[in-house]
Amino acid sequence: MRARYRWKATVTAVNDATANANSEVPALLDLPPLSAAHFARIEDKVAAMMGTEADVVTMQGEALLPLEACIRSAVRPGSTALNIITGPYGETFGGWLRSCGAEVITISAPFTGAVSPQQVADALRENPAIDFVSLVHAEAATGNTNPVAEIGAVVREHGALLMLDAVASVGAEPLHTDEWGVDLCVIGGQKALAGPAGVSVASVSARAWERIAANEQAPRRSYLSLLDWKDRWIDGGRKALPHAPAQLEMLALEQAVDRVTAEGPAVVIARHRAAAAATRAGVRALGGLTPYVLRDEDAAPAATTLRAPEDLDAREIVAAALAVDAGVPLQAAAGALAEEMIRLNHYGRAADRGVVLASLAALAEGLRAVGADAAADAGAALKAAGDAWDATIGG
Ligand SMILES: *Cc1c(COP(=O)(O)O)cnc(C)c1O
Repeated sequence: MRARYRWKATVTAVNDATANANSEVPALLDLPPLSAAHFARIEDKVAAMMGTEADVVTMQGEALLPLEACIRSAVRPGSTALNIITGPYGETFGGWLRSCGAEVITISAPFTGAVSPQQVADALRENPAIDFVSLVHAEAATGNTNPVAEIGAVVREHGALLMLDAVASVGAEPLHTDEWGVDLCVIGGQKALAGPAGVSVASVSARAWERIAANEQAPRRSYLSLLDWKDRWIDGGRKALPHAPAQLEMLALEQAVDRVTAEGPAVVIARHRAAAAATRAGVRALGGLTPYVLRDEDAAPAATTLRAPEDLDAREIVAAALAVDAGVPLQAAAGALAEEMIRLNHYGRAADRGVVLASLAALAEGLRAVGADAAADAGAALKAAGDAWDATIGG
């Protein structure tokens, strides 16, 4: 199974098409300046993709930058925050919330599932002072996804601000920022959008702006400041950029969004759903490994996490699989989960039938190489995965 070459061929073709036609290499230098109007147009495309008519702030850094900016802008001493932890990013948010002086109430869902709207409703009822809720939509790192529409409704009824980390979900599953009542929604381009890392976007609702403006502790004249962007860019009608934009990343972000729009967001989302369904079906047929997230509806479309057999180390299985086929998007989990969890990052261009099948084939051979006998026959796994893909895509 060498289907990954189809994936690589696609990527190469896209690069070729965007390269300067007269040059051997992509045109990355000596571009005309990115105008304020063009910058604003890119923001509008991203906002449309996020399902929001609220203001958006584009920050020149990885997605953790606007995530930290949102928390430091909206939270202050005296705030009570509900932090919902379903993976590693939630733990990071908890640290920021405490350092802003908030009292933090935590809901931790096991990484094998999602948080339920009922858990959130219970926490809000028991702690009426909660005025800020932080939630990760989907976790690429732990492979789960949370029911944001239902949670958003519960939070809205209570009246707290809702911050959503949608970095791993945008493009991979529906994202309806306004409809779901999300006040602060953060995305990046580098996961399902198959775009650049290094520019990130946060939407800010009118309610959130009010809260931020009233927060004396909100960063100002700072790289973490949302208010600076409001004062110097949004309130002036987005006519003059406050500094030189990260032009290459912005142009790449625009291309990524345009490409998703051209393919059709529903088609791109279906590819991601199919990748998760195919991986889970394939692994169940393969044996040895099991899906780490127990229920299909809690599984993130962007990445599937797998549990290694108890007597084997996930890192060794991944290394053996990559020795068979270095091109597949497999990795061992980080930190405490490294021994037991394998990640298949089937997002972006890797949300592809051939990539998923090649990954399963490599995993089967990797398992065999480290002495797991459950994986003797990869054929059944590939058949099950292909069937699940076709059933999801409908053809
Ligand atoms: C990847 C990811 C991030 C971090 O994005 P960076 O741009 O690398 O900072 C944050 N949250 C989630 C859920 C992610 O998957």
